[in-house]
Amino acid sequence: MLGATTPDEIHELVNGLNYKEKVDRSLALIDHYYREHGDGLVVANSLGKDSVVVWDLAKRVSPKIRGFIVTTRYKPAATKQFMNELVARYPETRIFKNDVEIPDELYRSDPDQCCDLLKVQPVREAVETMDVSCWVTGLRCTEGRTRTDYLEVERRDEGLLKLNPILLWHEREIWQYIALNGVAVNPLYGEGYRSLGCEPCTHISTGANERDGRWIGTSKCGGECGIHTRPLKVGASV
Ligand code: SF4
Repeated sequence: MLGATTPDEIHELVNGLNYKEKVDRSLALIDHYYREHGDGLVVANSLGKDSVVVWDLAKRVSPKIRGFIVTTRYKPAATKQFMNELVARYPETRIFKNDVEIPDELYRSDPDQCCDLLKVQPVREAVETMDVSCWVTGLRCTEGRTRTDYLEVERRDEGLLKLNPILLWHEREIWQYIALNGVAVNPLYGEGYRSLGCEPCTHISTGANERDGRWIGTSKCGGECGIHTRPLKVGASV
């Protein structure tokens, strides 16, 4: 198995590797697991800056690698447009969305349930319908308080590997890659956002952590929607 095996090792590498070494390491991780999983390796794309970097890296490994996007009724219009442009360019990317009826402003009264219904469940559906055995994420361990203890390769769900190939990257290295490789990004970053999600739960913030602007005013502030913490296999206990 490739990848650092302890959070301590991860934290040493975050500041111990330079930009080029991180790019090479990420490519090697994707390449290794693509050889192992073939079409079962699929990139999850949240339409944020980290996802577009992972997507670009994956396309360098193989243009055949597939992707999926989970969208919700609450995504900003600019994000929806960016998504449509991306899917037109990469038709091997599929969109998943849960249109179930939910109470008005559930994001205020119970954001955990709202995220579970609108984000986690469509990821489960994507994993099931695309026959995913290895999903690839844009998770980074320097993004915020909830992301410090992940590994590059996780085995959280039986039969589903999770690969976090840019776990070691700093925010500036993401922008470095985007600038050096001419990668298209969601235009909302130009407004001052540093982390993007659904419109009611995403604010421009100037705090130390990138995710400080997420779920402001709720218990989830700066936290997680659940796709990195909840079981993802259909039928798993939730
Ligand atoms: S980010 Fe907000 S609106 Fe989007 S699913 Fe989660 S709670 Fe609901």
